[in-house]
Amino acid sequence: MGLEFTTGKLADALAWARKYSLFQYPFVTACCGMEFMALWGPRYDIARFGAEFPRFSPRQSDLLMVVGTITERQAPVLKRIYDQMCEPKWVISFGVCASSGGFYQNYATVPGIDHVIPVDIYIPGCPPRPEQVLDALIMLQDKISAHDTNYDRRIREDKRIKAEGRQSRSVAG
Ligand code: SF4
Repeated sequence: MGLEFTTGKLADALAWARKYSLFQYPFVTACCGMEFMALWGPRYDIARFGAEFPRFSPRQSDLLMVVGTITERQAPVLKRIYDQMCEPKWVISFGVCASSGGFYQNYATVPGIDHVIPVDIYIPGCPPRPEQVLDALIMLQDKISAHDTNYDRRIREDKRIKAEGRQSRSVAG
């Protein structure tokens, strides 16, 4: 009980630190990028949320922002970049094209990046307003605090599989 309490508090403290120090990798492919840039201006001031530093190496980033249409040819590149990011990592899908393919319903366009990588937050709009992006960031911060992101689910699933493996070995032994 004591150990569980301590590790639980440590996990909460880590989540608190992580949610205010998001290092984002902007994967910008299309016109949504113009609206995305407005976030860094003094009017919207994304620095208030601790997420203002873009990193141009996936290995130094923990938040992948997918901004714009993703074509079938870009999909393997997006997947490779996601795989190169260290855990814990989170994904925001910026705009209707990234989230569902938008109005590009053709053979060349991915009908939503969740066909390629797991997504934590979807932002609707064509393009989304900067206020929507800040709202999405706050939603992601809440999910990080609540240990309710895709990363947390993966960790819980790994623990469950390991525990079941140990249990079945002890029953067999
Ligand atoms: S959602 Fe609209 S603004 Fe964004 S990439 Fe698609 S067409 Fe362009």
